[in-house]
Amino acid sequence: MNELREILKFFDAMGADFLHLPGSDPRADLAELNRRILQCRRCRLHESKTHYVPGEGNNRPDILFIGEGPGETEDQFGRPFIGKAGQLLDKIIQKMGLGREDVFIGNVVKCRPPNNREPLKDEVEACLPYLLKQVAILQPKVIVCLGKVALNNLLGTSHSMGRIRGQFLSFQGIPLMPTYHPAYILHKKDKDEISQAKWEVWEDMQKVLALISGKRP
Ligand code: URA
Repeated sequence: MNELREILKFFDAMGADFLHLPGSDPRADLAELNRRILQCRRCRLHESKTHYVPGEGNNRPDILFIGEGPGETEDQFGRPFIGKAGQLLDKIIQKMGLGREDVFIGNVVKCRPPNNREPLKDEVEACLPYLLKQVAILQPKVIVCLGKVALNNLLGTSHSMGRIRGQFLSFQGIPLMPTYHPAYILHKKDKDEISQAKWEVWEDMQKVLALISGKRP
C-alpha cells in the first residue's frame, strides 16, 4: 500500500492528474484531459486568455503537429491554428493528401501568451504535462514540431531550426520531424526566401509521408 502511495505521489509530482493506461479509450481520455485543461490555473496565462485552446483532431492520428501557442484568432475561438499561420498549415496538410480530421493539432501552451510573445519557462513547465498526456493518449506514428519553440521545449534542447530541420529525431521512441513554423514563412519578405522555406517544409513533409506509409526514407 505504501509502495502504491509512493508511486501515485511520484506521478502527482510529475503533474499527472490521471493516467492513460494501455487499452483505454483515447476519446474518453482526451475528453477528460480537455475538461482539466479548460479549468487550468497552473500559470498566469489563464488570466489574460479569452479561450483555452487544448488542441483538436483525430484521436488516433498518424501525425501530431505541435505549435508554440495560440495566437489572437485561436484565442478568440478556442481552436488551434485557424489564423493566417493555420491557413498555411491547412494547405500543407492538404498537399499531404490529408485533412485536419486525419491529424491532431496541438500546442506547447494552451493559452495565448499576451501580444504573441514566446511562452516563458515557468508557463511551459506548467503546461507541458498536458502535451505529454496528449502524446500518451494519441500515440501518433510521428510528431511534427512546427518551429523551434515546440521542438526545444519538447526535447529540452536549444537547436536552431535552420540546422536541424528535415532530420528525424525521436521523442519517447516516436519519430519527430522538426520543420519551420508556418508563421516563420509568412513573416519573410523576400519571395525567393518564401519559396525556399515552403519547399523545405514540403521536403520535410514528404519524409513524414514516407515514414507513415512504411517507407523510411
Ligand atoms: N501559432 C501556433 O504556434 N499555434 C497556433 O495555434 C496558432 C499559431
